[in-house]
Amino acid sequence: MNYVGISTFDTANGPGVRVSLFCSGCRLHCRGCFNPESWDFDAGLVYDAQAEERILKALEEPFVEGLSLLGGDPLEPENEPVLRSLCRRVREKFGSSRSIWLWTGRKYEHVRDLPIFQYIDTVVDGPFIERLKVEKPGQWFGSTNQRIICLQKSAPNAGACPGCTAKSAP
Ligand code: SF4
Repeated sequence: MNYVGISTFDTANGPGVRVSLFCSGCRLHCRGCFNPESWDFDAGLVYDAQAEERILKALEEPFVEGLSLLGGDPLEPENEPVLRSLCRRVREKFGSSRSIWLWTGRKYEHVRDLPIFQYIDTVVDGPFIERLKVEKPGQWFGSTNQRIICLQKSAPNAGACPGCTAKSAP
């Protein structure tokens, strides 16, 4: 897997201050995509042990609320196993004290069986649709068809994601 960026102080993608990983590669090619340079699976840098340690170290900061996985598409078959392993390590190290959010262009109903979802608190799903583009800044999705789905509603740690607004989502 390659990645196009890591942000260790991201306040734009999910609640609170987050560590965000923008992976490379997306086959959906939504018209008007905000990040078309990330479509290429070879874009950016190789995701190696050093990159992973940087993420895990950044998550130690007490002001960091969690990890955000974006793209590209984290659920492309080249990316999902690598990110699943990262999520497993985050859970081993931090338990549920750090929330994990994932953005995908797929609809959740079509990908819900992927094993990475055992680690995910919240998924923002669906393709970007240009005519439904959200103009208001500060939203966590780009077009109004996209949904913020809290996967932990019935789990013991339901509502544990700091600042989570997903309870009102479908
Ligand atoms: S799924 Fe995301 S990264 Fe892929 S084309 Fe659509 S908006 Fe761009």
